[in-house]
Amino acid sequence: MIAVLLGAPGVGKGTQAKLAAARNGWTHLSTGDLLRDEVARGTELGCQADAVMKRGDLVSDEIMVGMVAGRLHALPDGQVLLLDGFPRSLPQATALEVRAPRGAVGLALYFTAPDRVLTERLLARGRADDTREAVARRLAAFRETTEPLVAYYRGRGVLREIPSDRAIEEIQKDLVRCLREVRKDPSAVS
Ligand code: AMP
Repeated sequence: MIAVLLGAPGVGKGTQAKLAAARNGWTHLSTGDLLRDEVARGTELGCQADAVMKRGDLVSDEIMVGMVAGRLHALPDGQVLLLDGFPRSLPQATALEVRAPRGAVGLALYFTAPDRVLTERLLARGRADDTREAVARRLAAFRETTEPLVAYYRGRGVLREIPSDRAIEEIQKDLVRCLREVRKDPSAVS
């Protein structure tokens, strides 16, 4: 089953995904990590993505779909895949639906926190794409391009919201509970 992790930059979904994957033997795929790896290795794709990421803009849907598509076929039966940072736009979401096995996206977890908290966390993190201008652009890109996915997945009956201005372990408990419920009974999400 694929669980899509949605949420603004800085909400902590990467931290949550890593923890849940390590503790439960699930697979974690972060498109941000894949892109940063391309940048670090100096590949052609990495060079293209680097400036876009530093500005706080989104990398093109075509590049992102190509990057994720190959990795979906490798998903063993019964395995849980935590998709962190993908999809980030409606075209990416529809591409995922076409490429993934039928009904594969069983859950979309929407991590939420106030903008003030997100900005503080991002600026404290100090990554190359965490300058004040880039942070503002990334939050704007989230509102404009990614947030419509909340309605998209709600419409498909797979959305769950997780308030994320809380302790890491409390958020983690909610994440794991949601996943276990849906794995037991795929119609459990309301
Ligand atoms: P993240 O680590 O998920 O915050 O991603 C870091 C940056 O990588 C984002 O600000 C985007 O520039 C780029 N990125 C990651 N995933 C995607 C995606 N699915 N679509 C477009 N850009 C992405």
